[in-house]
Amino acid sequence: MDQSSIDALRAQEIAPRGHFINGAFQAGETGALHEVQSPINGQPLTQIAEGSPADVGAAVRSARTAFEDGRWSRMSPAGRKKVLLKLANLIESRALEIAVLGVRDNGTEINMAYKAEALSAAATFRYYAEAIDKIYGQVAPTSHDVLGLVHHAPVGVVGAIVPWNFPLMIGSWKIAPALAAGNSIVLKPAESASLSLLKIAELAAEAGIPDGVFNVVTGRGSVVGEALALSMDVDIMVFTGSGATGRRLLEYSARSNLKRCYLELGGKSPNIVFADAPDLAEAAKVSAAGIYRNSGQVCVAGSRLLVQQDIYEDFVAEITRHAESFRVGDPLDLNSQIGAVHSLPELDANLDFVKKAEAEGAERRTGGERILTETGGYYMSPTVMAGVKETDNLFQNEVFGPVLAVTPFKDEAEAVRLANATVYGLAGGVWTSNLSRAHRMVAEVRTGVMHVNTYGGADLTVPLGGVRQSGNGHDKSLHALEKYFDLKTAWIKL
Ligand code: NAD
Repeated sequence: MDQSSIDALRAQEIAPRGHFINGAFQAGETGALHEVQSPINGQPLTQIAEGSPADVGAAVRSARTAFEDGRWSRMSPAGRKKVLLKLANLIESRALEIAVLGVRDNGTEINMAYKAEALSAAATFRYYAEAIDKIYGQVAPTSHDVLGLVHHAPVGVVGAIVPWNFPLMIGSWKIAPALAAGNSIVLKPAESASLSLLKIAELAAEAGIPDGVFNVVTGRGSVVGEALALSMDVDIMVFTGSGATGRRLLEYSARSNLKRCYLELGGKSPNIVFADAPDLAEAAKVSAAGIYRNSGQVCVAGSRLLVQQDIYEDFVAEITRHAESFRVGDPLDLNSQIGAVHSLPELDANLDFVKKAEAEGAERRTGGERILTETGGYYMSPTVMAGVKETDNLFQNEVFGPVLAVTPFKDEAEAVRLANATVYGLAGGVWTSNLSRAHRMVAEVRTGVMHVNTYGGADLTVPLGGVRQSGNGHDKSLHALEKYFDLKTAWIKL
């Protein structure tokens, strides 16, 4: 990856895109288009189809037809593996092009987009391709005159809705296991981050995924997403996004066909630093990256820093120093460490959180401002808010921006109580050299993922999923496959 290749890719015009239905790009039924803006400079970037319920209907019908006639669902696992491996190779060979395309509509810094979006998508397709011909059904321990078989049957048509922060990484976490298991998919990306996923649909066709098996319908959540989740012919919904939308999906399910909904939602993850941490300088450095990378637009971001009283002032000073040292700027400049905030409404919401926190008595140690306004883009300085109280808005609610809330604690019991004092349960971290305490904290802090003496970086081999109001179900690892199968029993009299 070098700057001149990135600059050449960024200079390319992006032609308006339609939906990807039944193996081809096509205009929506209404012909309406949605204007996509770039957060890099606030300028129009291209247009995508503004989907309608009729477009969703067409995509679901094409997915259902493909599923029923078995062109993919009845292909052998080894056959599906071959096609998915080809797709992984195609993504890898076009990784820079895909990463730059994605950065242009979502604003993630290119080093991160290249690895965490494009290359990670290729790795995800490869992982589930390799897994799928190693999964066996079961023979039940019955009496000798019957045979009880438990098959893994694909669920049918999967509806997937994904957010804008890591569209390709999160999209692949759903598309790859769903396809590997033999299902058809209708995917709805976020309206402001659809380009890289439309590219994957194109490459999927090139790799040999049969027509109708993988469909993408673009447009608004309240129209396309709602129609998908209300469809009587979608068998399960897999979703990553906000809790507010997750609640709606459960309502849509109740109002339609009771489809199962797997929800990966938001968090307000506690990152807990004890005075006995093995290396406080390292803890400050990693904790800063754990909140500020991708402008804090990371579901597992360690956005609540709980620091033991004895080291509180020194640690806050150290993390403030790190916050101030990040180079925020053009996400397609290799020298930038943090790119743009995704959109103007997101940026305004972040600034509003800071204002409200100050009004509630928190001290702004650094940041809290829109910067680089001359670019026309949406950039925000990494922000440290100290002295945040348990009852404060900033303690309780997810910002999804580069804003860290810092709160002191006295002892382990208070750390656990504060860690669990929100409605969320996605991720957390603990820094200590006391092994017993580390294990106690992993057990007692109610989250889906706990980091010990590190923060972030848990790879594809382990599940990611929230507890409490951070969701249900899991992406990543072999566990992610479970939701894409129904267990089917055959009870056979011998
Ligand atoms: P969002 O809920 O606003 O949007 C997510 C998706 O849902 C988008 O595609 C959107 O168009 C669609 N949508 C919106 N309204 C809908 C409706 N009424 N019906 C159906 N679909 C609808 O969330 P966002 O702002 O795009 O994403 C940020 C949120 O996602 C944060 O809360 C973040 O923590 C969460 N997130 C969670 C994880 C995880 O793995 N748990 C990962 C990344 C992001």
